[in-house]
Amino acid sequence: MSKIRFQALIEASNRKPIEVIENTKRSVLFGENVFNENTMRQYLTNDAFKGVMSAMELGTKIDRKIADQVSSSMKEWAMSKGVTHYTHWFQPLTGGTAEKHDAFFETIGNGMAIEKFGGDQLVQQEPDASSFPNGGIRNTFEARGYTAWDPTSPAFIYGTTLSIPTIFVSYTGEALDYKTPLLRALTAIDEASTAVCKYFDKNVKRVSASLGWEQEYFLIDKALANSRPDITLTGRTLLGHSPAKGQQLDDHYFGSIPSRALNYMRDLETECMLLGIPVKTRHNEVAPNQFELAPIYEECNLAVDHNSLLMDVMGKVASRHQLKVLLHEKPFAGVNGSGKHNNWSLTTDTGVNLLGPGKTPMSNLQFLTFFINTIKAVYDNEELIRAVVASANNDHRLGANEAPPAIISVFIGEQLTKVLEELEGVTNGKLSPEEKTDLKLNVVGKIPDVLLDNTDRNRTSPFAFTGNKFEFRAVGSFANCANPMTVLNTVVAKQLKDFKTEVDILIESQGLKKDEAIFNVLREYIKATKNILFEGNGYGEAWEKEAKKRGLSNNKTTPEALKARISKKSIAIFEEMNVMSIVETEARYEIEVEEYTKRIQIESRVLGDIAGNHVVPTAVRYQNLLIENVKGLKEIFGKDFEKQAAEQIKLIKGISNHIKAIHLKVDEMISARKIANVIEDAEEKAASYCEDVKPFFDEIRYHCDKLELMVDDELWPLTKYRELLFTR
Ligand code: ADP
Ligand code: MG
Repeated sequence: MSKIRFQALIEASNRKPIEVIENTKRSVLFGENVFNENTMRQYLTNDAFKGVMSAMELGTKIDRKIADQVSSSMKEWAMSKGVTHYTHWFQPLTGGTAEKHDAFFETIGNGMAIEKFGGDQLVQQEPDASSFPNGGIRNTFEARGYTAWDPTSPAFIYGTTLSIPTIFVSYTGEALDYKTPLLRALTAIDEASTAVCKYFDKNVKRVSASLGWEQEYFLIDKALANSRPDITLTGRTLLGHSPAKGQQLDDHYFGSIPSRALNYMRDLETECMLLGIPVKTRHNEVAPNQFELAPIYEECNLAVDHNSLLMDVMGKVASRHQLKVLLHEKPFAGVNGSGKHNNWSLTTDTGVNLLGPGKTPMSNLQFLTFFINTIKAVYDNEELIRAVVASANNDHRLGANEAPPAIISVFIGEQLTKVLEELEGVTNGKLSPEEKTDLKLNVVGKIPDVLLDNTDRNRTSPFAFTGNKFEFRAVGSFANCANPMTVLNTVVAKQLKDFKTEVDILIESQGLKKDEAIFNVLREYIKATKNILFEGNGYGEAWEKEAKKRGLSNNKTTPEALKARISKKSIAIFEEMNVMSIVETEARYEIEVEEYTKRIQIESRVLGDIAGNHVVPTAVRYQNLLIENVKGLKEIFGKDFEKQAAEQIKLIKGISNHIKAIHLKVDEMISARKIANVIEDAEEKAASYCEDVKPFFDEIRYHCDKLELMVDDELWPLTKYRELLFTR
């Protein structure tokens, strides 16, 4: 056995769970390290408190004087907790989070120093950000970028650093991060939803989107994970034969959580509590060593920040427990990958969940309005919605019979399907009094009872209505939720805006009553969007055929899927809703296309290396042992040896064949890479990596995995699947 594999196994099997002793009640820890409303009341002057609250709730601007007061109070609070540094915390388009720590400490001459943190430093910074992806924006415009305080997401302390959530934009105002377009999309959905709510309740002043994510991940012993160059460099295994036992017994899902994992989770949850991330649920997932963590849902911007922060903290806490968190969408072939369901809804400032059926017919008509408009938005933009979850990693899940297919459809359940069928029969134009009464009592009025026993959830749907929210299930585990949330909120906002226009026209030009007009418009939407509704098995082949007939897109690879990001229609929607300019949309497209190329390029190099300097040399060594053995047999048995050595000779030949195939395929892959590398156009290059380079991965893997089965386990250098997945 290779030294690395041997040592890693010894290390992993000798580990004891690290005890976590935490007796404090969770509710006491919650938000302890957050500059939240409670803390602000204690530390801020009345004026400053009002200023920040109004910025948080109404989006008003904070003036300089107030910013000075806030920064000085933040510093005081942070220093009382041993904090020495501050950072603007942002989410560049790399997918991770970025921070650059500065000390409060400043010299003031004469060998003296003070701790300083002024309004200037709180409100705006100019990080040297030339190395962040910008899709050409920073070349076209000013070279500099700046970060600006987002007061709607509270500052927090992690370690000894005060972190201030910020947006990151170019000097000319173009977004260079995930948060900026998200905030704009949240404004758009607020405005469009509030306008529609006014049909039902004049008191509604604001609508906010909510997000409850469910984070799936793998937890692997650190030494074992580090012993695999592919995991270290790409986040996934590029080869490895399936273990004799995988997930077929379903004995992991919801099973008792192994104690090392449980101690890690407890530790992580404590950190989350301190950071104000309201984590609530933890359980084993389907694959061995796969788990899930979910919080109570929050306002969308905050929930997105919390998920980004969580992904960072998960890695840090895991390291303390000698574990490694794999957030990759498909770390292991043959067992389930990881996703991140995005549960989404809309809530008014009067406390009504617009996607939750209400108690009266009118509130139910409001529910149906938002419900049907969401379906329409998804239908009209299904390709864009598919595009926003596309990534090299997620390509392994979508459409691979374990996660939602690459086809976007909406599941609403049997009961609501019936309600829509009834609404479809509503008379054109004015409604008779009898029809109105019937609708109110028997269709719209019945919804709450109906939903209570609606338990038929379809797990194969990428976009499912689950009682009081939609659940977007195609999002990948590694993704920043801002991306899908920006798109979803934007397309629904656009749809609601159009809906309002259509209803108003019917009221004004045809003299329809408000509810008549709403019924009329909804009826047409129901008729127009039937093709997106699907209740059957989304994993089945039959659905692919059916979806094709219905004209739904089925873009299986990222380069193909991403194109919808820059379709005329998408560009127009983002512009109309003031979420992204054409420059910003195109820049993002370019970044995503390039990221795809880079990921496949790295995987291809790593695979070539491992095959060439781990697998083949090991196979040769084993083959030499066999040759020695055959020579020995010949010595003993003379001409009779062939009968005795038949199996060995077969093995020797088999190994040679696999080695030959690996060399051939690796060489071909390198040639394909060379051709792809000189393609100038980013889109064509990504397509070439996808179509000409990536197909070699499976072929090379096939031969390597065969060798894994043939070669003496003692010699095999790479930690095996059974060791990675079942060591606890
Ligand atoms: P599962 O999908 O695993 O069956 P649930 O449907 O019970 O789990 O809930 C999943 C998530 O939905 C939780 O994180 C919860 O906070 C979130 N959620 C519940 N209500 C809402 C809502 N109105 N808006 C957004 N998310 C919500
Ligand atoms: Mg779910």
